[in-house]
Amino acid sequence: MENMRFNGLDKFYDIDKDLMESAALAEAKCMAVFSQVEQTSEYNQYKVIKAFQKNEISETHFIPSTGYGYGDRGRDALDRVYAEVFGTEDAIVRQNIASGTVANTIMMFANLRPGDEIIFAAGIPYDTLLDSVGIRKGAPGSMAEYGITYKIVDLNEGVINHKGLINAISEKTKMVFVQRSSGYDWRKPVMINEMAELVRKVKAINPQIIIAVDNCYGEFVEKQEPGDVGVDIMAGSLIKNPGGGICPTGGYICGHTDLIENCASRIYSPGLSREVGSSTADKRLMFQGLFMAPHTVEQCLKGAVFAASLLKSMGFETSPEYNDERGDIVQLVRFANKEQLVAFCEGVQKGSPVDSNVKPIPWDMPGYDDQVIMAAGTFVQGASIEFSADAPVKEPYIAYMQGGLVYSQVKLGILVALQSIKNREII
Ligand SMILES: *Cc1c(COP(=O)(O)O)cnc(C)c1O
Repeated sequence: MENMRFNGLDKFYDIDKDLMESAALAEAKCMAVFSQVEQTSEYNQYKVIKAFQKNEISETHFIPSTGYGYGDRGRDALDRVYAEVFGTEDAIVRQNIASGTVANTIMMFANLRPGDEIIFAAGIPYDTLLDSVGIRKGAPGSMAEYGITYKIVDLNEGVINHKGLINAISEKTKMVFVQRSSGYDWRKPVMINEMAELVRKVKAINPQIIIAVDNCYGEFVEKQEPGDVGVDIMAGSLIKNPGGGICPTGGYICGHTDLIENCASRIYSPGLSREVGSSTADKRLMFQGLFMAPHTVEQCLKGAVFAASLLKSMGFETSPEYNDERGDIVQLVRFANKEQLVAFCEGVQKGSPVDSNVKPIPWDMPGYDDQVIMAAGTFVQGASIEFSADAPVKEPYIAYMQGGLVYSQVKLGILVALQSIKNREII
Protein backbone atom coordinates (compact mmCIF):
# COMPACT_ATOMS: atom_id res chain seq x y z
CA MET A 1 0.00 0.00 0.00
CA GLU A 2 2.87 2.39 0.79
CA ASN A 3 4.00 2.10 -2.82
CA MET A 4 0.61 3.28 -3.94
CA ARG A 5 0.69 6.22 -1.59
CA PHE A 6 3.93 7.71 -2.75
CA ASN A 7 3.67 6.48 -6.33
CA GLY A 8 6.89 4.53 -6.19
CA LEU A 9 9.04 7.26 -4.66
CA ASP A 10 9.66 5.02 -1.66
CA LYS A 11 10.30 2.02 -3.88
CA PHE A 12 13.06 3.63 -5.95
CA TYR A 13 14.54 6.22 -3.59
CA ASP A 14 15.64 6.55 0.01
CA ILE A 15 13.51 9.45 1.10
CA ASP A 16 12.50 9.68 4.75
CA LYS A 17 8.84 8.96 5.31
CA ASP A 18 8.24 12.28 7.09
CA LEU A 19 9.72 14.14 4.12
CA MET A 20 7.43 12.28 1.72
CA GLU A 21 4.48 13.09 3.99
CA SER A 22 5.42 16.78 3.96
CA ALA A 23 5.72 16.64 0.18
CA ALA A 24 2.26 15.11 -0.16
CA LEU A 25 0.80 17.87 2.03
CA ALA A 26 2.68 20.60 0.18
CA GLU A 27 1.51 19.20 -3.15
CA ALA A 28 -2.11 19.02 -2.04
CA LYS A 29 -1.98 22.76 -1.30
CA CYS A 30 -0.91 23.48 -4.89
CA MET A 31 -3.95 22.08 -6.70
CA ALA A 32 -5.76 25.37 -7.33
CA VAL A 33 -2.56 26.96 -8.62
CA PHE A 34 -1.84 23.92 -10.81
CA SER A 35 -5.27 24.27 -12.32
CA GLN A 36 -4.57 27.91 -13.30
CA VAL A 37 -1.22 26.92 -14.77
CA GLU A 38 -2.95 24.23 -16.84
CA GLN A 39 -5.49 26.72 -18.16
CA THR A 40 -2.77 29.08 -19.37
CA SER A 41 -0.92 26.17 -20.94
CA GLU A 42 -4.04 25.02 -22.77
CA TYR A 43 -4.68 28.53 -24.11
CA ASN A 44 -1.09 28.86 -25.30
CA GLN A 45 -1.17 25.40 -26.87
CA TYR A 46 -4.14 26.36 -29.03
CA LYS A 47 -2.38 29.59 -29.99
CA VAL A 48 0.71 27.67 -31.13
CA ILE A 49 -1.19 25.00 -33.05
CA LYS A 50 -3.23 27.68 -34.80
CA ALA A 51 -0.01 29.42 -35.91
CA PHE A 52 1.30 26.13 -37.32
CA GLN A 53 -1.92 25.52 -39.22
CA LYS A 54 -2.16 29.07 -40.55
CA ASN A 55 1.32 28.73 -42.00
CA GLU A 56 0.58 25.25 -43.36
CA ILE A 57 3.59 23.65 -41.72
CA SER A 58 4.47 20.37 -43.38
CA GLU A 59 7.21 17.77 -43.27
CA THR A 60 9.11 19.50 -46.08
CA HIS A 61 9.72 22.46 -43.77
CA PHE A 62 11.92 20.26 -41.57
CA ILE A 63 14.52 19.51 -44.25
CA PRO A 64 18.00 20.97 -43.55
CA SER A 65 19.63 23.21 -46.14
CA THR A 66 23.28 23.69 -47.13
CA GLY A 67 25.58 26.33 -48.59
CA TYR A 68 24.03 29.78 -48.86
CA GLY A 69 20.69 28.43 -47.78
CA TYR A 70 18.75 30.16 -50.59
CA GLY A 71 15.09 29.25 -50.63
CA ASP A 72 15.12 27.52 -47.25
CA ARG A 73 11.34 27.30 -46.87
CA GLY A 74 11.42 25.87 -43.38
CA ARG A 75 13.58 28.70 -42.08
CA ASP A 76 11.19 31.32 -43.46
CA ALA A 77 8.10 29.45 -42.22
CA LEU A 78 9.57 29.16 -38.71
CA ASP A 79 10.06 32.94 -38.69
CA ARG A 80 6.40 33.42 -39.59
CA VAL A 81 5.18 31.00 -36.93
CA TYR A 82 7.25 32.74 -34.25
CA ALA A 83 5.95 36.16 -35.32
CA GLU A 84 2.38 34.89 -35.06
CA VAL A 85 2.87 33.33 -31.64
CA PHE A 86 4.68 36.34 -30.14
CA GLY A 87 2.23 38.88 -31.52
CA THR A 88 4.67 40.66 -33.83
CA GLU A 89 4.88 41.51 -37.50
CA ASP A 90 8.07 39.58 -38.14
CA ALA A 91 10.75 37.37 -36.60
CA ILE A 92 14.18 35.89 -37.12
CA VAL A 93 14.83 32.47 -35.58
CA ARG A 94 18.20 30.85 -36.20
CA GLN A 95 20.43 28.09 -34.92
CA ASN A 96 23.42 30.44 -35.25
CA ILE A 97 21.92 32.93 -32.79
CA ALA A 98 23.90 30.99 -30.22
CA SER A 99 22.14 31.97 -26.99
CA GLY A 100 19.89 34.41 -25.19
CA THR A 101 22.83 36.76 -24.65
CA VAL A 102 23.55 36.74 -28.38
CA ALA A 103 19.90 37.33 -29.34
CA ASN A 104 19.63 40.28 -26.94
CA THR A 105 22.97 41.70 -28.08
CA ILE A 106 21.92 41.56 -31.74
CA MET A 107 18.56 43.15 -30.88
CA MET A 108 20.28 46.12 -29.24
CA PHE A 109 23.29 46.52 -31.53
CA ALA A 110 21.30 46.21 -34.75
CA ASN A 111 18.85 48.94 -33.79
CA LEU A 112 21.12 51.49 -32.12
CA ARG A 113 23.51 53.90 -33.81
CA PRO A 114 26.40 56.00 -32.52
CA GLY A 115 25.04 58.82 -30.38
CA ASP A 116 21.92 56.89 -29.38
CA GLU A 117 21.03 56.17 -25.79
CA ILE A 118 19.43 53.03 -24.34
CA ILE A 119 17.58 53.08 -21.02
CA PHE A 120 17.31 49.92 -18.94
CA ALA A 121 13.90 50.29 -17.33
CA ALA A 122 13.97 47.22 -15.07
CA GLY A 123 17.28 47.86 -13.38
CA ILE A 124 20.70 46.62 -14.38
CA PRO A 125 20.42 44.06 -17.21
CA TYR A 126 21.29 40.36 -17.03
CA ASP A 127 24.86 39.69 -16.07
CA THR A 128 26.12 38.52 -19.47
CA LEU A 129 24.76 41.65 -21.16
CA LEU A 130 26.95 43.94 -19.04
CA ASP A 131 29.85 43.30 -21.42
CA SER A 132 27.71 43.85 -24.53
CA VAL A 133 26.57 47.24 -23.32
CA GLY A 134 29.92 48.19 -21.82
CA ILE A 135 28.56 48.55 -18.29
CA ARG A 136 31.30 46.13 -17.32
CA LYS A 137 34.44 47.29 -19.07
CA GLY A 138 37.10 45.18 -20.67
CA ALA A 139 35.52 43.02 -23.36
CA PRO A 140 36.28 44.40 -26.84
CA GLY A 141 33.46 45.43 -29.19
CA SER A 142 30.92 46.68 -26.67
CA MET A 143 28.19 49.18 -27.57
CA ALA A 144 30.09 51.77 -25.54
CA GLU A 145 33.00 51.47 -28.00
CA TYR A 146 30.57 52.46 -30.75
CA GLY A 147 29.45 55.57 -28.90
CA ILE A 148 26.13 54.19 -27.66
CA THR A 149 25.36 55.38 -24.13
CA TYR A 150 23.12 53.90 -21.45
CA LYS A 151 21.12 54.82 -18.38
CA ILE A 152 19.76 52.45 -15.75
CA VAL A 153 16.48 53.10 -13.94
CA ASP A 154 16.08 50.83 -10.94
CA LEU A 155 12.82 49.18 -10.07
CA ASN A 156 10.85 50.81 -7.29
CA GLU A 157 9.74 48.23 -4.71
CA GLY A 158 9.85 45.57 -7.37
CA VAL A 159 7.89 47.37 -10.07
CA ILE A 160 8.83 49.69 -12.92
CA ASN A 161 9.53 53.23 -11.75
CA HIS A 162 7.55 55.05 -14.45
CA LYS A 163 8.31 58.48 -13.05
CA GLY A 164 12.03 57.80 -12.95
CA LEU A 165 11.90 56.33 -16.43
CA ILE A 166 10.08 59.30 -17.91
CA ASN A 167 12.52 61.70 -16.27
CA ALA A 168 15.42 59.72 -17.72
CA ILE A 169 14.16 59.92 -21.32
CA SER A 170 16.11 62.44 -23.38
CA GLU A 171 16.38 63.54 -27.02
CA LYS A 172 18.99 60.82 -27.47
CA THR A 173 16.84 57.99 -26.14
CA LYS A 174 16.32 55.48 -28.93
CA MET A 175 15.48 52.32 -26.97
CA VAL A 176 13.86 51.43 -23.66
CA PHE A 177 14.86 47.94 -22.58
CA VAL A 178 12.91 45.77 -20.14
CA GLN A 179 14.08 42.47 -18.71
CA ARG A 180 10.98 40.37 -18.12
CA SER A 181 12.49 37.78 -15.79
CA SER A 182 13.85 38.40 -12.32
CA GLY A 183 17.21 36.98 -13.43
CA TYR A 184 19.67 36.94 -10.55
CA ASP A 185 17.76 39.41 -8.42
CA TRP A 186 15.41 38.87 -5.51
CA ARG A 187 12.61 40.69 -7.31
CA LYS A 188 9.39 40.00 -9.13
CA PRO A 189 9.35 39.53 -12.89
CA VAL A 190 7.86 42.32 -14.99
CA MET A 191 4.29 41.26 -15.82
CA ILE A 192 2.73 41.76 -19.26
CA ASN A 193 0.27 44.35 -17.93
CA GLU A 194 3.18 46.38 -16.54
CA MET A 195 4.77 46.29 -20.01
CA ALA A 196 1.51 47.53 -21.53
CA GLU A 197 1.56 50.52 -19.20
CA LEU A 198 5.20 51.23 -19.99
CA VAL A 199 4.48 51.12 -23.73
CA ARG A 200 1.62 53.63 -23.34
CA LYS A 201 3.66 56.03 -21.21
CA VAL A 202 6.85 55.96 -23.27
CA LYS A 203 5.05 56.19 -26.64
CA ALA A 204 3.07 59.18 -25.33
CA ILE A 205 6.37 61.02 -24.92
CA ASN A 206 7.98 59.83 -28.14
CA PRO A 207 6.41 57.17 -30.36
CA GLN A 208 9.77 56.65 -32.12
CA ILE A 209 11.38 55.11 -29.04
CA ILE A 210 11.80 51.36 -29.50
CA ILE A 211 10.51 49.25 -26.61
CA ALA A 212 12.68 46.15 -26.41
CA VAL A 213 12.16 43.18 -24.09
CA ASP A 214 14.59 40.52 -22.90
CA ASN A 215 11.97 37.77 -22.98
CA CYS A 216 14.18 34.96 -21.59
CA TYR A 217 12.32 32.68 -19.15
CA GLY A 218 9.04 34.53 -19.67
CA GLU A 219 7.61 32.85 -22.77
CA PHE A 220 4.25 31.09 -22.32
CA VAL A 221 4.03 31.87 -18.61
CA GLU A 222 1.15 34.27 -19.28
CA LYS A 223 -1.51 34.15 -21.99
CA GLN A 224 -0.13 37.24 -23.68
CA GLU A 225 3.36 37.92 -24.97
CA PRO A 226 5.07 41.34 -25.11
CA GLY A 227 4.15 41.76 -28.79
CA ASP A 228 0.46 41.58 -27.85
CA VAL A 229 0.75 44.77 -25.79
CA GLY A 230 2.73 46.91 -28.21
CA VAL A 231 6.34 45.99 -27.40
CA ASP A 232 8.34 46.61 -30.59
CA ILE A 233 10.95 43.89 -30.37
CA MET A 234 11.94 41.01 -28.07
CA ALA A 235 14.61 38.35 -27.88
CA GLY A 236 15.16 34.98 -26.25
CA SER A 237 16.90 31.63 -26.26
CA LEU A 238 15.76 28.36 -27.83
CA ILE A 239 17.29 26.28 -25.05
CA LYS A 240 14.92 27.98 -22.65
CA ASN A 241 11.10 28.15 -22.79
CA PRO A 242 10.31 28.35 -26.54
CA GLY A 243 12.55 25.39 -27.43
CA GLY A 244 10.31 23.19 -25.29
CA GLY A 245 13.33 21.24 -24.05
CA ILE A 246 13.70 19.63 -27.45
CA CYS A 247 15.42 22.25 -29.56
CA PRO A 248 19.19 21.66 -29.43
CA THR A 249 20.37 25.26 -29.92
CA GLY A 250 19.46 28.73 -31.21
CA GLY A 251 17.82 32.04 -30.47
CA TYR A 252 14.98 34.22 -31.71
CA ILE A 253 14.14 37.87 -32.17
CA CYS A 254 10.54 38.91 -32.88
CA GLY A 255 9.41 42.43 -33.76
CA HIS A 256 8.47 44.97 -36.40
CA THR A 257 9.78 44.15 -39.88
CA ASP A 258 12.12 47.15 -40.11
CA LEU A 259 13.72 46.26 -36.77
CA ILE A 260 14.06 42.59 -37.70
CA GLU A 261 15.62 43.63 -41.04
CA ASN A 262 18.22 45.55 -39.05
CA CYS A 263 18.92 42.37 -37.09
CA ALA A 264 19.28 40.35 -40.30
CA SER A 265 21.72 42.93 -41.70
CA ARG A 266 23.80 42.59 -38.58
CA ILE A 267 23.73 38.77 -38.43
CA TYR A 268 24.35 38.28 -42.14
CA SER A 269 25.11 41.40 -44.20
CA PRO A 270 23.20 44.45 -45.40
CA GLY A 271 21.69 43.56 -48.77
CA LEU A 272 21.86 39.81 -48.34
CA SER A 273 19.71 40.05 -45.25
CA ARG A 274 17.47 37.01 -44.82
CA GLU A 275 18.06 35.53 -48.28
CA VAL A 276 20.95 33.52 -46.85
CA GLY A 277 21.55 31.36 -43.81
CA SER A 278 21.46 27.61 -44.20
CA SER A 279 20.15 25.45 -41.42
CA THR A 280 22.23 22.32 -41.32
CA ALA A 281 20.42 21.19 -38.17
CA ASP A 282 17.13 19.35 -38.31
CA LYS A 283 14.49 22.08 -38.19
CA ARG A 284 11.93 19.57 -36.97
CA LEU A 285 13.35 20.05 -33.47
CA MET A 286 12.88 23.81 -33.69
CA PHE A 287 9.26 23.39 -34.78
CA GLN A 288 8.51 20.53 -32.44
CA GLY A 289 10.15 22.35 -29.54
CA LEU A 290 7.89 25.35 -30.07
CA PHE A 291 4.91 23.01 -30.29
CA MET A 292 5.91 21.42 -26.95
CA ALA A 293 6.79 24.72 -25.26
CA PRO A 294 3.44 25.57 -23.60
CA HIS A 295 3.34 22.07 -22.09
CA THR A 296 6.98 22.16 -21.00
CA VAL A 297 6.51 25.57 -19.38
CA GLU A 298 3.49 24.12 -17.57
CA GLN A 299 5.69 21.32 -16.16
CA CYS A 300 8.34 23.87 -15.07
CA LEU A 301 5.77 26.06 -13.38
CA LYS A 302 4.19 23.17 -11.50
CA GLY A 303 7.64 22.13 -10.34
CA ALA A 304 8.43 25.66 -9.16
CA VAL A 305 5.07 25.98 -7.38
CA PHE A 306 5.58 22.63 -5.63
CA ALA A 307 9.13 23.58 -4.63
CA ALA A 308 7.93 26.88 -3.18
CA SER A 309 5.17 25.16 -1.25
CA LEU A 310 7.36 22.43 0.24
CA LEU A 311 10.40 24.58 0.96
CA LYS A 312 8.26 27.23 2.60
CA SER A 313 6.60 24.59 4.80
CA MET A 314 10.08 23.53 5.90
CA GLY A 315 10.98 27.05 6.93
CA PHE A 316 12.86 28.37 3.91
CA GLU A 317 12.08 31.75 2.39
CA THR A 318 10.94 31.55 -1.23
CA SER A 319 10.25 34.05 -4.01
CA PRO A 320 7.72 33.84 -5.50
CA GLU A 321 5.57 32.11 -2.89
CA TYR A 322 3.69 29.08 -4.17
CA ASN A 323 0.46 30.99 -4.79
CA ASP A 324 1.96 34.26 -6.07
CA GLU A 325 1.35 35.50 -9.59
CA ARG A 326 4.16 34.27 -11.86
CA GLY A 327 5.78 36.00 -14.82
CA ASP A 328 8.72 33.67 -15.40
CA ILE A 329 9.86 30.14 -14.60
CA VAL A 330 12.47 31.09 -11.98
CA GLN A 331 12.11 30.05 -8.35
CA LEU A 332 14.31 31.62 -5.69
CA VAL A 333 15.02 29.94 -2.36
CA ARG A 334 17.01 31.43 0.48
CA PHE A 335 19.07 29.08 2.61
CA ALA A 336 20.47 29.69 6.08
CA ASN A 337 24.12 29.00 5.26
CA LYS A 338 26.63 27.87 2.68
CA GLU A 339 26.41 24.20 3.68
CA GLN A 340 22.66 24.05 3.04
CA LEU A 341 22.98 25.87 -0.28
CA VAL A 342 25.72 23.57 -1.56
CA ALA A 343 23.93 20.44 -0.30
CA PHE A 344 20.75 21.54 -2.05
CA CYS A 345 22.51 22.07 -5.40
CA GLU A 346 24.29 18.72 -5.03
CA GLY A 347 20.92 17.08 -4.40
CA VAL A 348 19.38 18.68 -7.49
CA GLN A 349 22.21 17.19 -9.55
CA LYS A 350 21.79 13.80 -7.85
CA GLY A 351 18.11 13.73 -8.82
CA SER A 352 18.78 14.42 -12.53
CA PRO A 353 18.34 11.93 -15.37
CA VAL A 354 21.78 12.76 -16.85
CA ASP A 355 25.07 13.19 -14.95
CA SER A 356 23.45 12.23 -11.65
CA ASN A 357 26.81 10.81 -10.57
CA VAL A 358 28.56 14.16 -11.02
CA LYS A 359 29.09 16.34 -7.97
CA PRO A 360 28.83 20.06 -8.67
CA ILE A 361 31.40 22.15 -6.83
CA PRO A 362 31.60 25.91 -6.30
CA TRP A 363 34.07 27.45 -8.77
CA ASP A 364 35.44 30.82 -9.85
CA MET A 365 33.29 31.50 -12.88
CA PRO A 366 34.58 34.24 -15.21
CA GLY A 367 32.70 37.50 -14.68
CA TYR A 368 31.57 36.75 -11.13
CA ASP A 369 33.19 38.13 -8.00
CA ASP A 370 32.16 35.18 -5.83
CA GLN A 371 32.24 31.46 -6.40
CA VAL A 372 29.25 29.98 -8.20
CA ILE A 373 27.75 26.50 -7.94
CA MET A 374 25.70 25.10 -10.80
CA ALA A 375 23.62 21.95 -10.82
CA ALA A 376 22.27 20.75 -14.16
CA GLY A 377 21.89 17.18 -15.30
CA THR A 378 20.53 18.08 -18.73
CA PHE A 379 20.20 16.44 -22.14
CA VAL A 380 21.05 19.69 -23.92
CA GLN A 381 24.20 21.35 -22.57
CA GLY A 382 23.33 24.24 -20.28
CA ALA A 383 19.62 24.10 -21.10
CA SER A 384 17.94 25.83 -18.20
CA ILE A 385 14.47 24.84 -19.44
CA GLU A 386 15.58 21.50 -17.99
CA PHE A 387 15.62 21.27 -14.20
CA SER A 388 18.64 23.15 -12.93
CA ALA A 389 19.77 25.23 -9.99
CA ASP A 390 22.59 27.67 -9.55
CA ALA A 391 23.80 30.02 -6.89
CA PRO A 392 26.57 32.46 -6.13
CA VAL A 393 28.12 31.12 -2.93
CA LYS A 394 27.72 34.24 -0.80
CA GLU A 395 25.25 35.78 1.58
CA PRO A 396 22.24 35.79 1.44
CA TYR A 397 22.68 32.21 0.10
CA ILE A 398 20.00 32.24 -2.57
CA ALA A 399 19.57 29.34 -5.00
CA TYR A 400 17.96 30.12 -8.36
CA MET A 401 16.20 27.09 -9.69
CA GLN A 402 14.26 26.75 -12.87
CA GLY A 403 13.05 24.37 -15.51
CA GLY A 404 11.98 20.77 -15.61
CA LEU A 405 10.75 18.85 -18.63
CA VAL A 406 8.64 16.64 -16.41
CA TYR A 407 6.97 17.70 -13.16
CA SER A 408 7.73 14.44 -11.33
CA GLN A 409 11.43 14.92 -11.98
CA VAL A 410 11.37 18.35 -10.35
CA LYS A 411 9.52 16.86 -7.41
CA LEU A 412 12.09 14.09 -7.15
CA GLY A 413 14.99 16.53 -7.50
CA ILE A 414 13.67 18.73 -4.69
CA LEU A 415 13.14 15.72 -2.40
CA VAL A 416 16.58 14.27 -3.10
CA ALA A 417 18.05 17.72 -2.43
CA LEU A 418 16.18 18.11 0.86
CA GLN A 419 17.15 14.60 1.86
CA SER A 420 20.80 15.43 1.29
CA ILE A 421 20.44 18.49 3.53
CA LYS A 422 18.78 16.28 6.17
CA ASN A 423 21.44 13.58 5.91
CA ARG A 424 24.11 16.09 6.76
CA GLU A 425 22.13 17.23 9.75
CA ILE A 426 22.44 20.84 8.74
CA ILE A 427 18.74 21.60 8.77
C1 LIG B 1 19.34 33.27 -19.57
C2 LIG B 1 19.09 34.70 -19.68
C3 LIG B 1 19.86 35.51 -20.52
C4 LIG B 1 21.03 35.00 -21.28
O1 LIG B 1 20.77 33.86 -22.01
P1 LIG B 1 21.91 32.78 -22.31
O2 LIG B 1 21.22 31.84 -23.21
O3 LIG B 1 22.32 32.20 -21.02
O4 LIG B 1 23.01 33.52 -23.00
C5 LIG B 1 19.54 36.84 -20.60
N1 LIG B 1 18.53 37.35 -19.89
C6 LIG B 1 17.78 36.60 -19.06
C7 LIG B 1 16.65 37.24 -18.30
C8 LIG B 1 18.03 35.26 -18.93
O5 LIG B 1 17.29 34.51 -18.12
